[in-house]
Amino acid sequence: MPILVMKFGGTSVATLDKIKRAAKRVGREVANGYDVIVVVSAMSGETNKLVGFVNDTSPMYDAREYDAVVSSGENVTAGLMALTLQEMDVPARSWQGWQVPLKTNSAHSAARIEEIPTDNILAKFAEGMKVAVVAGFQGISPEGRITTLGRGGSDTTAVAFAAAFEAERCDIYTDVDGVYTTDPRVESKARKMEKVAFEEMLEMASLGAKVLQTRSVELAMRYGVRLRVLSSFEEYNPNAGTLICAEEDIVENKPVSGIASSREEAKMTLVSIADRPGIAAAIFGPLAEAGVNVDMIIQNISEEGRTDMTFSCPMDQVKRAEAALDEAKAKGDLNFGELISDMNVAKISLVGIGMRSQSGVAAKMFKVLRDEGINIKVIATSEIKISVLIDRKYTELAVQALHDAFELDKA
Ligand code: ADP
Ligand code: ASP
Ligand code: MG
Repeated sequence: MPILVMKFGGTSVATLDKIKRAAKRVGREVANGYDVIVVVSAMSGETNKLVGFVNDTSPMYDAREYDAVVSSGENVTAGLMALTLQEMDVPARSWQGWQVPLKTNSAHSAARIEEIPTDNILAKFAEGMKVAVVAGFQGISPEGRITTLGRGGSDTTAVAFAAAFEAERCDIYTDVDGVYTTDPRVESKARKMEKVAFEEMLEMASLGAKVLQTRSVELAMRYGVRLRVLSSFEEYNPNAGTLICAEEDIVENKPVSGIASSREEAKMTLVSIADRPGIAAAIFGPLAEAGVNVDMIIQNISEEGRTDMTFSCPMDQVKRAEAALDEAKAKGDLNFGELISDMNVAKISLVGIGMRSQSGVAAKMFKVLRDEGINIKVIATSEIKISVLIDRKYTELAVQALHDAFELDKA
């Protein structure tokens, strides 16, 4: 039998009624002749609640226990989904990550999948079971501890299962009916795209479009998984949603395909550092060792041998970054006047494979922001994206103005 992977996100399994609705879709695919692997998230809001419990109990928590707690939401929905299917006379059972076993490395709270043995589940399909319900987001480390794959990780569970089982397709059911030119909750004129190239989706995801976890797109690209994003609330339609596919399959070639925004970044500035060889290494070495993911970097013009260095990193890593830099200063490896952390920024990014061959995109972006009176604090570019940091309060304004200027509402 061909295998299909269907993933249901938090809002799609938020209540027993919604689980029933999702189960009906699964039943339909079983009737269509598929053996189905269903991957479920926790009920919406559940993982946030569990993370809150952990933080309130132990601010400098043991990551192994964090994973033990926050992975539990998926156990509930996996069992409930299996029960709902059984009530519909569809032969189904649930699997927690360790039962598969979905093997990961030991990087708790951001673990990487290493292996998914297929024998266990395939044997059950051979016996006549029709649906394997898998708890998303979780796995087991070489030490035998429960791990999680980072927020939004059930997307990655789903794609990894699709790759391991050579599934015909991996359908990601969520609360929007596809991937849009920008977050439809930020810009009502956002347009649903029929297809998006893997490279573009990868940039969009890593720059803040949380509709897919970045790692899931990476895996789909590497293993050639046919990945589709669609709504679990709309009527059944075999051509619904957005297909994430190879660049060659896309005809449209505008310079900009989408806009991503992120409010989860902070800007940090080291004031008055010595402008000498090795200074960047002295700053970013300790940051790397502390596990801080630095994104954008700018060094200002130097005056009398002193300069400023500004970089951006995820907001929840600011404390760690401050500690690492203060420690380097105390050890005498680095000398700086002041360390300023600015949490009031947002990153706005234009993404498009068309940028490779068309110039003037950055200039137009800067002009649009200027016309809105929005100041740019940091700029970074790569082959298919341009990102700027701006004041957080202008996030919506910037996204809407850029969406209009690049005519993303028009196909
Ligand atoms: P799930 O719980 O199903 O995993 P998520 O909340 O993780 O759902 O992802 C879906 C959300 O992603 C949407 O509700 C939407 O607000 C947001 N989003 C951000 N950027 C985009 C985009 N470009 N296209 C579609 N949705 C987007
Ligand atoms: N429940 C987890 C989270 O909220 C994983 C997921 O839904 O993808 O991050
Ligand atoms: Mg998600």
